[in-house]
Amino acid sequence: MTIHDQIHQTKHIFGPVPSRRLGISLGLDIIPFKTCSLDCLYCECGRTSRLTCERQSFFPPQRLLDELKAALPAIPRLDFITFSGSGEPTLNSDLGGLIAEIGQLGAAPIAVLTNGTLLGRADVRRELLGADVVLPSLDAALGSSFARINQPCPGLDLQGMIAGMEAFRREYAGRIWMEVFILKGINDNDADLAALREALLRIRPDKVQLNTLDRPPAYPGVESADFTLLESVRRRWPGLPVEIIKRAGRREEIPAFSLNLENSLLNTIRRRPLTLDDLVALTAKDEDELRRYLDILEREKKIRPVIEGGHIFYRLWPSGEN
Ligand code: SF4
Repeated sequence: MTIHDQIHQTKHIFGPVPSRRLGISLGLDIIPFKTCSLDCLYCECGRTSRLTCERQSFFPPQRLLDELKAALPAIPRLDFITFSGSGEPTLNSDLGGLIAEIGQLGAAPIAVLTNGTLLGRADVRRELLGADVVLPSLDAALGSSFARINQPCPGLDLQGMIAGMEAFRREYAGRIWMEVFILKGINDNDADLAALREALLRIRPDKVQLNTLDRPPAYPGVESADFTLLESVRRRWPGLPVEIIKRAGRREEIPAFSLNLENSLLNTIRRRPLTLDDLVALTAKDEDELRRYLDILEREKKIRPVIEGGHIFYRLWPSGEN
């Protein structure tokens, strides 16, 4: 069974999808489209239509639990059930109850993608304690850059938010994977990078994941960072567990990707579908490097990831499926 046969798309559930950060992930969307406490320049879902910091109940939570219970029996294996979507999940005041109920199902670990803006609130931090991984964002630790990049709802206090992230680290035994979006010419200068490093050292996340623009941004004029820039940020943040999760977009970004290597990868995958681990073992390439090659081949519609028997395999696209 491929991902395309088994994908669930209901009002609140999407997937499972192969996710770079979370493996095989079933997405839960608990917020109306583009209801968010930020209006980020780079948002890939478009501009925020409802900018708010007010939490509320958006729908009866039992509805999502019923959808989930109906979907789970048809899904062989999940790495995560993930609160994500096109708005900020912590704005839903039923989040804590949902995490507790879903945790009781024991179907998969729970992840929450959040912009971190409400972590200054003790009730939000308490509600997140039941999650297995929390993935907050932090793109700026200087007020002026935060205002420019994230265009927060009025009254949102950046330093209170960072202090909330520090408090969450103390209170929470699960994993915190922090995402930082680097935008060329905006937060890649010395002052921003030094302030971000200092904040991240205080927060002490388990991982710092560097990302940048991958799709058209909500606002024009925002520039993506290339791998060289992201590597330089990594070098400038010693003492932090930094990894680069940006997807490779164009061949020119990875000059090492030769035609020979492409043919050898395609021939290997043609013989039988392979997981990333298989390909790492077969090619003796570093996992990050290999992912970049696979990104290019995926983008060029030469291969595609499919979920089979609870694993993500790469297959030729589309004829390789037959
Ligand atoms: S926090 Fe996320 S959903 Fe909200 S505007 Fe920023 S990128 Fe978009």
